[in-house]
Amino acid sequence: MKISNVLNYIGGKWSETRETMPNLNPATGELICQIPSSQASDGSKAIEAATHAFETWSKTTLKERADLLERLASEIERNFQEFCELECLDTGKPFSLCRELDIPRAISNLRFFSQAIQQNNTDFFNTPNGFSYSIRQPLGVVSLITPWNLPLYLLTWKLAPALAMGNTVVAKPSELTPLTANRLAQAFHDIKAPAGIFNVVHGLGPKIGEPLVKHPLVKAVSFTGGTVTGRRVSQLTSESFKKTSLEMGGKNPTVVFSECDMDKAVKGVARSSFLNQGQICLCGSRIYVEKNIYKKFLERLVEEVKSWKMGDPTDMTTQFGSLISSAHRDKIEKYVTLAQEEGGRIVLGGQKPTLSGNNANGFFYPPTIIADLPDTCRTAQEEIFGPVVTIHAFESESEVIESCNHLNYGLSASIWTENLNRAHRVAHLIQAGTVWVNTWLMRDLRVPFGGVKDSGVGREGGKLSLEFFSETKTVCINTGEHL
Ligand code: NDP
Repeated sequence: MKISNVLNYIGGKWSETRETMPNLNPATGELICQIPSSQASDGSKAIEAATHAFETWSKTTLKERADLLERLASEIERNFQEFCELECLDTGKPFSLCRELDIPRAISNLRFFSQAIQQNNTDFFNTPNGFSYSIRQPLGVVSLITPWNLPLYLLTWKLAPALAMGNTVVAKPSELTPLTANRLAQAFHDIKAPAGIFNVVHGLGPKIGEPLVKHPLVKAVSFTGGTVTGRRVSQLTSESFKKTSLEMGGKNPTVVFSECDMDKAVKGVARSSFLNQGQICLCGSRIYVEKNIYKKFLERLVEEVKSWKMGDPTDMTTQFGSLISSAHRDKIEKYVTLAQEEGGRIVLGGQKPTLSGNNANGFFYPPTIIADLPDTCRTAQEEIFGPVVTIHAFESESEVIESCNHLNYGLSASIWTENLNRAHRVAHLIQAGTVWVNTWLMRDLRVPFGGVKDSGVGREGGKLSLEFFSETKTVCINTGEHL
């Protein structure tokens, strides 16, 4: 696939930058193309274009905005194969995952908010001498800052409600994965969307992300990424009281009780540990298994994960692709070394693989399971965000709940049990934004999504996303005779 150099998309036009930077294919280590290394002045141009477009876009009807999102969804659908190929090329994730998860979910994000905006209600309050009602109005220009692990999926998750509520957008994707955001800009262009409602500036977080967060004309920031970056974004936006949504890191527990359905639990836990090479914020990276089934479960889990095929992401039979970058693989390797220093036993993986052909220089690392560590050590407490999990035995429900909750993260958890009472009880006690029972990553776009503690501030999803990207106004009408 021949890829042209990427440009910024500002005010409906492609825009050059003074500096560029390379974008690599993580599965081969080869150069894909050059991308902009934008600076503050590029960000200002995009914000000005979005401010100008807001004057018109904010006055469009719900129907016009819903139609635009629907046309965009159809445009991605028409070019489905190309979007999948670009996401696979940029991220190193298996093509099958792009085809089954990333791109279909991006399409459904757009369609969902296209529908949701037309069914959204506001409140009405009747009083003896009159009534009040509330309306929701757009904010203005919003900045969307997104990570590399689910590039188009997470961008559309923010973009769709932002545009649906009448805002205009400046997006900064991760510099590691610019291709589908760039292709999305082309889709906006091709469907003749109003110029300036969607702008993309590429480049590095500190150099272009920060100016987009700080700019006085930006009214809200929706950020997904690591907790350290989220804290920085929060500091910058709090100075000017900008609305800010922060979806951040996690170290999610997976709890397997002895009465679980073992077959389902083994498959489910393999998936929640290693899908997308473990690079999903919701992946379970601390696995707690009840002591009387621990040995059996571990054997079955190893057997299951061993059957996954690692290799060329473009091969339709590949289930496990490459990591995002060489630097990220170095980080993973350091954690595996640390785990051994901390007394961990590597049960599976734990060594850089040797691949041949095109993938010989790719950034691969195998699924790695580490046992015999206390869950108070660094390996079991810090977010690794890769294919490395620790596995621990527990004896009682209260002990495992304590283990789930003792970290400062609280994004998600999954529980495997056939005991209904226990499922509800434990789900209520775990400190996390989402708790799955006998499943993982099951998605309903209406439900609140976000984290507690250092994993997030605010909730996205359904009407909460629509609320985030708007401001409520109350109108009070006096129908009585008195003032
Ligand atoms: P980062 O926090 O490094 O980056 C996220 C985005 O922020 C990138 O676009 C990045 O640009 C940008 N950025 C970096 N520094 C700044 C800054 N100072 N000001 C503004 N923007 C900045 O995260 P990763 O991309 O490495 O993604 C992995 C992290 O994301 C993990 O911690 C994971 O848990 C989390 N995540 C959370 C999700 C959730 O829903 N809670 C979902 C998905 C991921 P650049 O790439 O140039 O550094």
